[in-house]
Amino acid sequence: MTGKKITSIEVKKMNKNRIYRLIYNSREIARQDIAARMSLSLPTVNQNLKELTEEELIEYGGNFKSTGGRKAQAINPVHDARITIGLEIRKNHVSILAIDLYGTVLDYEKYVKTFSEEEEYSRYLGYLVHNIIEHNHFDKDKILGVGIAVPGVFDQEKEYIIKAPSLGINRYPISKLTQAINYPCIVDNDANSGAFTELWNNSKGEDKAYLSVGKGVGGCIIKKDELYKGHHHRAGEFGHMTISPGGRLCNCGQKGCLEAYISTARVSDDLGCQIEDFFSELAAGNEEYLKIWDEYLEYLCIGINNIYMVYDSDVVLGGVLAQYLDPYLEEIKRRLAERNFFEKSGEYFKLTGYQSRATAIGAALQLVNKFIESI
Ligand SMILES: [Zn+2]
Repeated sequence: MTGKKITSIEVKKMNKNRIYRLIYNSREIARQDIAARMSLSLPTVNQNLKELTEEELIEYGGNFKSTGGRKAQAINPVHDARITIGLEIRKNHVSILAIDLYGTVLDYEKYVKTFSEEEEYSRYLGYLVHNIIEHNHFDKDKILGVGIAVPGVFDQEKEYIIKAPSLGINRYPISKLTQAINYPCIVDNDANSGAFTELWNNSKGEDKAYLSVGKGVGGCIIKKDELYKGHHHRAGEFGHMTISPGGRLCNCGQKGCLEAYISTARVSDDLGCQIEDFFSELAAGNEEYLKIWDEYLEYLCIGINNIYMVYDSDVVLGGVLAQYLDPYLEEIKRRLAERNFFEKSGEYFKLTGYQSRATAIGAALQLVNKFIESI
């Protein structure tokens, strides 16, 4: 082995981080169990617990039930030791939420606001962030920052949005978006953000493909505990797989992409209505809408089946569409089963558990993840 020597300071930091993670993952644990599970001495554990308590990251709860001998005291993480804000930017809406260290949503609002390149728009984002913090009386020192999800493709350094067709911008500097926000910001693609939420809750560490369907169609590949990004951070751009040669014009300029067939614009903008109105009319039996939906589902299932054939893993659907799909889930599974030679069940297809909020939560969780890594 050639590994460089680890200094005692590094060992101390690693131990503290491991102890915090164990408490975080257990949610409730006794110091004796920490010592036993990590093969550390009780004095070492106690010293770390003292530091974590001083930093207000953990607290002492009640006693565990005694199984004889002295009762052990429960140690719990402080869920709201830090607060993170998540923003989701869409062409005509902005969603904002605040989460604690477990991703629990403490407040959520969605506003009608059309994206613009004007400074007024970034001031508006700054105002929303300020507002959610003031309204909830969050301690400003506990704010980790703001995660922003944008339906676009970024450069590697995340200084520019190279292209965001649904927002109508090209090579747009991120700093323009964040200039009025007085907290550290990170930006990410909306599909990546949604997938990060999925990953965060992927307790079994399973491989998954995540298909995000909104005005834009994107996705991600979850490889056990991480997102597979590819050489150019474009892995999982499922929206631009060709599914119909010479077909409908896509936002990207090519013809026949999946996005051109299953963007939610197909059931909203193209019909001149809001997506929620489309689904309520559909449920009421509107025949024109039923026909459109039938065709829509056909293409959706082609896309899902193609993804499944490549990855041979669960395919999870998130994005704006997810919140409307529950009533159609069995129908989709049936069509998927019919379409596939190998797999006669559509059970591999799932809807994300977080539905409409997954994107903003995922943007914020990336900051939470960095924070936990830094403890
Ligand atoms: Zn395309």
